[in-house]
Amino acid sequence: MTRIYAIANQKGGVGKTTTCVNLSASLVATGKRVLLVDLDPQGNATMGSGIDKNALEKSIYHVLTRRATIDECLLFSESGKYHVLPGNGDLTAAEVEMLSLDNRERLLQQALQSVRDRFDYILIDCPPSLNMLTINALAACDSVIITMQCEYYALEGLSALANTINQIQQVLNPALKIEGLLRTMWDPRNSLTNDVSAQLTQHFGDRVYRTCIPRNVRLAEAPSFGQPVLAFDRQSKGAIAYLALAGEILRRNEPNAKLPDIVSQEK
Ligand code: ADP
Ligand code: MG
Repeated sequence: MTRIYAIANQKGGVGKTTTCVNLSASLVATGKRVLLVDLDPQGNATMGSGIDKNALEKSIYHVLTRRATIDECLLFSESGKYHVLPGNGDLTAAEVEMLSLDNRERLLQQALQSVRDRFDYILIDCPPSLNMLTINALAACDSVIITMQCEYYALEGLSALANTINQIQQVLNPALKIEGLLRTMWDPRNSLTNDVSAQLTQHFGDRVYRTCIPRNVRLAEAPSFGQPVLAFDRQSKGAIAYLALAGEILRRNEPNAKLPDIVSQEK
């Protein structure tokens, strides 16, 4: 069964792209077939996967505006060993052009239908806003992974996102749910981090992943080499944390399956 997750938060700089790239690579390391969909005009997930966003012949822009099929646009990340539906600044134009198309909220959902069966996991990297691109991601996915930094304003933004998810669920995607909340750039020495984290658990219970992604410089360095951290520094705390997250996700989805060694040894 294919699982499609949107990695979302309308706040920028909360680890969405880092999670999308590194969770993709970690799921691949467990033997899963993965597609990363870059829905952010910044194209950071594309670049972070080792694909030059400025040299794309066709991209997700062409898919969303019905100028190309998804198969014409799929690329393979050599560093991450997953497929990529790449994106770049053209997505800004797509957002506007989509408004005049029929079924504009479902363009991504429709496009993914034809490739869905080829993958175990499809991860969609959302832009830092609640716009038509994000609505397409929320309509196309099974569930949402919310990344967040445990800081003062984090919870405030979260209720706006939860409301949007509710609305999309009512109008476009009845089965939509929050898959999990991931604490990123985790720094347990900061007492605010612990306060916010406690509130988060109070609100969302076991939907908060047990795995926290620590602040780790290797995670910040890897994108400039076009690599997931697993390819860049397998021993780093960041690589180990994202493998642990992949393990936690597999355990939730397949509670009776034996976990691959690469994740069962983590944590
Ligand atoms: P978003 O996609 O939500 O805007 P990013 O994943 O691009 O956020 O992260 C924002 C910045 O923080 C990037 O420069 C990224 O390299 C860095 N970063 C993300 N997660 C970590 C982490 N766990 N440790 C250190 N730096 C991180
Ligand atoms: Mg991003």
